[in-house]
Amino acid sequence: MADIIRLLPDHVANQIAAGEVVQRPASVVKELLENAIDAQSTDIKLIVKDGGKTLIQVVDNGIGMSDTDARLSFERHATSKIQKAEDLFNLHTKGFRGEALASIAAIAHVEMMTRIAEDEVGTHIKIEGSRVISQEVAVVPKGTSMMVKNLFFNIPARRNFLKSDQVEFRHITDEFHRVALAHPQVSFSFYNNGSEVFNLPANDFRKRIVQIFGRKTNEKLVPVNEETQVVKITGYVQKPEFAKKSRGEQFFFANDRFIKSPYLHHAVLGAFEGLIKPGMHPGYFICLEVDPATIDINIHPTKTEVKFDDEHTLYAYLKSTIKHSLGQFNVAPSLDFEK
Ligand code: ADP
Ligand code: MG
Repeated sequence: MADIIRLLPDHVANQIAAGEVVQRPASVVKELLENAIDAQSTDIKLIVKDGGKTLIQVVDNGIGMSDTDARLSFERHATSKIQKAEDLFNLHTKGFRGEALASIAAIAHVEMMTRIAEDEVGTHIKIEGSRVISQEVAVVPKGTSMMVKNLFFNIPARRNFLKSDQVEFRHITDEFHRVALAHPQVSFSFYNNGSEVFNLPANDFRKRIVQIFGRKTNEKLVPVNEETQVVKITGYVQKPEFAKKSRGEQFFFANDRFIKSPYLHHAVLGAFEGLIKPGMHPGYFICLEVDPATIDINIHPTKTEVKFDDEHTLYAYLKSTIKHSLGQFNVAPSLDFEK
């Protein structure tokens, strides 16, 4: 029988990978914001139009790219962030898979302008469906501007599957919140269809929370602070009386990365036991700092699920730390008296 296996062309492989990395416009926003953070930017601007369907642009003032790197950044598995397998156990960047730009460029019209500090001029590159259309010298500021237009232009099924502009905008806002909260020391602005949604000067964590969720949030916050050999826990929980019926303001960050963890969420609920009615959801903004060697981020392409080495210990610490904070701030266990 004849041989029938062949290697897929790059643009097809990229499109397949894109299916995992890019679910919707918000996924692009997340990847671009994280790249801007990894490039040591201190000021990041996000611009979207029509729920990100027609335009997503991120402009940063980070380290930028040389013209060769600008071209290479769109290749699959092309990254400046890791070099060898061991680096996976000592990650200090948001990215490392070298997949995002290749994936995005496979399914959208992409334009990038970038310049490194050492060069007088930068480069302007256009890519559509993994095909480089042009690359030219350009007079641009230091840093990078990434423009992603017409997402899923070549995958009609995906494009049709997108929700209304409003719903997609809400997902984008969620991603923006997550990155902006994880990096209060960076200033962010966010424009939707030409109007300003957020303008967040650099700040501390508490003020960033207030910048995003409003002035009334400030009085709700109870600080959490504990350091052990395994983990440093900082951040805030909201006072029990502000617990809500709906879930919402619940954030875990592990080493400055937003993560989802039903298990740790359960630990927080445990700490609130007796203070809130069952079925109510306390708000929290909790930062966990652990040795990068004790956390596995490479479980899923979007990296919001992670695996901690010693989850049980973490659970116990988190619960007791929050209990302690709530006690210290004299949060009366009012429900106990109602029984
Ligand atoms: P990863 O972030 O996993 O390395 P990406 O596909 O997101 O993969 O990006 C590829 C590479 O392009 C990065 O490793 C980085 O060197 C470069 N890059 C991407 N975005 C930026 C940016 N905003 N500023 C500077 N360099 C960037
Ligand atoms: Mg990246």
